[in-house]
Amino acid sequence: MADRDGKIWMDGELVEWRDAKIHVLTHTLHYGCGAFEGVRAYNTVNGTAIFRLQEHTERLFNSAKILRMAIPFTKEQVNEAQKQTVRANKLESCYIRPLTWIGSQKLGVSPKGNQIHLMVAAWAWGAYLGEEGMKRGIRVKTSSYTRHHVNITMTQAKAVSNYTNSILANMEALDDGYDEALLLDSTGFVSEGAGENIFVIKGGVIYTPDLSAGALNGITRNTVFHIAKDLGLEIVQKRITRDEVYIADEAFFTGTAAEVTPIRELDRIEIGAGSRGPITEKIQTAFFDIVNGRNPKYAHWLTKV
Ligand code: PMP
Repeated sequence: MADRDGKIWMDGELVEWRDAKIHVLTHTLHYGCGAFEGVRAYNTVNGTAIFRLQEHTERLFNSAKILRMAIPFTKEQVNEAQKQTVRANKLESCYIRPLTWIGSQKLGVSPKGNQIHLMVAAWAWGAYLGEEGMKRGIRVKTSSYTRHHVNITMTQAKAVSNYTNSILANMEALDDGYDEALLLDSTGFVSEGAGENIFVIKGGVIYTPDLSAGALNGITRNTVFHIAKDLGLEIVQKRITRDEVYIADEAFFTGTAAEVTPIRELDRIEIGAGSRGPITEKIQTAFFDIVNGRNPKYAHWLTKV
């Protein structure tokens, strides 16, 4: 991924993709304290636009705040950096990755005395869990790994270090022939996917774990709250057990990368009819209408680059 043409925004300027490098003694590389975002730009009916840019930047600053890192740029500068990166790489639709990390002035657990850095990269990235999965639904495995407890690495930060847990769960699921992992919280209730929030539908009502289950406060999750309201569907945030997922009528994952991905199976047990359910399909369609600029009600969520 490092050896390609293009530009990456690094600490205030666009640099050649191949030259966007850091030192091996970078604090974040050793101890894992850093934060990032995953953002998407869509080729909308009005041109390329970044979806919910303000909310993503806000969450990046909140993640940094939780991790006691002072980003040396303003939110406006970080918004501008993302727009600039998309433009510089001539991308019509893409995934955008801002990341803030602790520099290489000194090592030792205390990061004090180190510079805080920020970068933004962008590249074309299609359906995260596969085009086929978007239509048919994906197969998910309950992970043997527990999601972070809310008082360990801080679950409302999109922290670099939180993703070791996601990587372990995802690798285990893939090695066992599944598409993605579902993690339970430390008390055994459903939390989220390795990089997605989860929703289940039963009797026409949509359920999702409340954030005390350690799930990230997903921006796509919030988008689905708006969509459900528009469709006249009730959403309930509550504790969910894994067997409630087994006997749900429908289930789906949400995420910036995963968008709205139906789940057709958990632990080899078919959910509902074992395919994308009708309510999931409605939500998926509404989601793609919004992100592609076809729903004027949400035009304010799209920032033209
Ligand atoms: N949970 C985790 C662990 C994630 O990595 C993501 C992706 N950022 C999400 C949930 C979904 O969040 P969002 O919809 O804001 O991308």
